[in-house]
Amino acid sequence: MRAYSSYFFLCLFCLSCYSQNIKKQENPMSTNEKPTNPVYSRNDTGKLALPDAEWKKILSPEVYYIARQKGTERPYTSPFEKSKEIGTYYCAVCGNPLFKSDTKFESGCGWPSFYEPISKGSIIYLPDNTLGMSRTEVECGRCKSHLGHVFEDGPKPTGLRYCINGVVLDFEKAKEAEKKYDA
Ligand SMILES: [Zn+2]
Repeated sequence: MRAYSSYFFLCLFCLSCYSQNIKKQENPMSTNEKPTNPVYSRNDTGKLALPDAEWKKILSPEVYYIARQKGTERPYTSPFEKSKEIGTYYCAVCGNPLFKSDTKFESGCGWPSFYEPISKGSIIYLPDNTLGMSRTEVECGRCKSHLGHVFEDGPKPTGLRYCINGVVLDFEKAKEAEKKYDA
């Protein structure tokens, strides 16, 4: 009887290990969620309006400084600036899809640069007259985080240059099938 019951528990143990492994395989990267950021989602398009104290709790100090305090990262510091990887750039604060890699270009300005956002809802535009300049600030269309600025000296077809802080971008590589489809 005792041997039988220990066999039973062994099976139960194996079964639970097995189901845990399956869960891991279903979600190998889990980049669609951030454990410390409950509002991050790449599917939810609902607008976010959190109080500043809440953002401070759920964002890293670097992201909080750029996104919520309109900071600017030092030029030439983002690994995304020269990256030519094929995929999608998301808002690092909320997961909103912002730019496709095929609209990215090397502007030489020191920050990741794109000529067109993924959709109209990706970006909000605001006049910015700080630092004695007249510029257009760009914010995330979902969470209103500061991303960077847009200038009218970009390449064709839009003639725009979205100059974006790499700290507030998340990148996900395209899968092989998508790469072929895009080409
Ligand atoms: Zn966002």
